[in-house]
Amino acid sequence: MEEKPINIIYLLGAGRSGTTMLSTVLNNRSKIHTVGEMHQFLDYVYENKDCSCGKNMSECEFWSPLLAEMNLELLKNKENVELSNKLEKHYNIPLYLLGKPLNGTYREMTDVIFQTIHKKESKPWLLDSSKYIARYLLLRKNKKVNLKGIYLVRDVRGVVYSFGKNVQTHKNPLSAIIYYTLINFWAQWVSLFDKRIIKIKYEDFVNEPDKAIQKIDKHLFGSETKTSYLKDTTFEIPHIIAGNRLRSDKQLIIKKDLKWKEEISRPKQILYYLLALPLMIINKYSP
Ligand SMILES: [Zn+2]
Repeated sequence: MEEKPINIIYLLGAGRSGTTMLSTVLNNRSKIHTVGEMHQFLDYVYENKDCSCGKNMSECEFWSPLLAEMNLELLKNKENVELSNKLEKHYNIPLYLLGKPLNGTYREMTDVIFQTIHKKESKPWLLDSSKYIARYLLLRKNKKVNLKGIYLVRDVRGVVYSFGKNVQTHKNPLSAIIYYTLINFWAQWVSLFDKRIIKIKYEDFVNEPDKAIQKIDKHLFGSETKTSYLKDTTFEIPHIIAGNRLRSDKQLIIKKDLKWKEEISRPKQILYYLLALPLMIINKYSP
């Protein structure tokens, strides 16, 4: 049995906060390999869904050889897929914080998946961009996992605007704000007491990507690596599970998406700001 630690960098935060973009840029770093939103991995395997490359899991050149080495009796089992989805739901967050133990089958599945990828992948760190906080807490309880976290936060109005665009999961402003508040409340709470997690603002990242990446490098590896090329660079999108609509493109560049400033009326901007007030203040967003 392989006993090397499983090195995972985990992205936390609400959807539409730029996690797909950040995870693609980080995949470009020499020590990091991005695998996508791994909370959906079992569903992807079970239903043989399409990887970001456009081929389904059993035909994808990255995932298919890995699947051949994984214990599919364990992973491709409807009960286990359902168990995993249930354990990662948000209502578990307070229970895990209060000490609810890690489920044995869940741990075994995590170990099989990540150890198999580790064996084939030369980069030492795997980046999981699931965002789900319950999943972070489950990974944190797993003794084999060497875990680091990046919590990405964005102005609530950018998130509301992005959910309003009619793509994928549409949310109206009120449900977007409720979702935003729930996720960021817990992410804020967990990251406050956990030195493994560094918080990065979406706006800082898109304004000065090099600076943000240096900060992340320092947090993850203890040393700063100079980068001065991130703006206008084209990044290859790796073979990732899920992610937002960016993933159907093959490449991306770092784009500032601050359209909400023009597209949302000023009174609504103030209203949304007030509805998320504690988080806006904590993260130093101005109205
Ligand atoms: Zn693929």
